[in-house]
Amino acid sequence: MEELPILLPNPGWDPRILAFRSADVVTVFAILTRRWTLLVDTLYSSVGALELARQALQAAALLHGGKAPPLLVVNTHADWDHAWGNQTFAGPEAAFPAPVLGTRECARRLRQAEDASELRAMQAREPQRFAGASLVPPSLAFEGPLEIDGGDLVAHLLPAPGHVPGQVVVWLPEIRHLLAADAVEHPMPFVQGPGHLKDMMETLEALQRLAPLRVLACHDLLDGDPRLIQKNLDYFSRVREAARTHDGTDPQSPDLDRLLDLPFEEFCGGVPRQAWEFYRGAHLKALRAALAEVQDPAGQDGAPGC
Ligand SMILES: [Zn+2]
Repeated sequence: MEELPILLPNPGWDPRILAFRSADVVTVFAILTRRWTLLVDTLYSSVGALELARQALQAAALLHGGKAPPLLVVNTHADWDHAWGNQTFAGPEAAFPAPVLGTRECARRLRQAEDASELRAMQAREPQRFAGASLVPPSLAFEGPLEIDGGDLVAHLLPAPGHVPGQVVVWLPEIRHLLAADAVEHPMPFVQGPGHLKDMMETLEALQRLAPLRVLACHDLLDGDPRLIQKNLDYFSRVREAARTHDGTDPQSPDLDRLLDLPFEEFCGGVPRQAWEFYRGAHLKALRAALAEVQDPAGQDGAPGC
């Protein structure tokens, strides 16, 4: 079955921000500014990205009295659920040609062979879900923070490594709203692997210092509650503490969470049953990353993990 983005109800965040959920996979966003119809992430199929653009432009036209401001697209990072719809906006097949912004690391990922073979494998397994998906790097690559002046709102793209290198979040200071990509998540964000936990903690601390009123993440309940950042920080602090207390544990043990006295069940509240295995995987990754900090402090240079 085709997975099309559905506009979610807005329980009280700024009405210029639209949230679109695609199946139970991911939520992406549109920010309707005076100058730009800004899309934040592009989903993972042609039909999904087309429908996202269509709905966002329609809403923008309605808001601005008939004519939608031009599209501008941001990739928060290169993972499949965020950037495999880029071909709808950039490249020879683009149905809605628009500049696509992403970090240099995001662009590098979308050019690399590993991501291309991941796409082939996933398309072979689920051809309909990933129909038309292809790897199209951002047309404008940047490094460090970037500001997009929308006329009525300025969107600050801020580096937020930890989940993956090269990730950015979107901070809207005038309304203190944060689109947190995959940096913040319930019950825990995915750490890429050993060497990335320090980045994850520093990112969460930096986001906490922004003191947002609303936090909207791509894999979350989407109630906008900013306390999720502190909850994630508390979680990783416990993970680090457990690793320090049990520093001789084999990081590859499948029972790592029990051996470290931090069973996954403690964190699964509010997580649908079908997602437990997925988040248990996230939990084990976090524990392994924390053990690696203790057991191999010299290896903490952010080397690619996964
Ligand atoms: Zn994601």
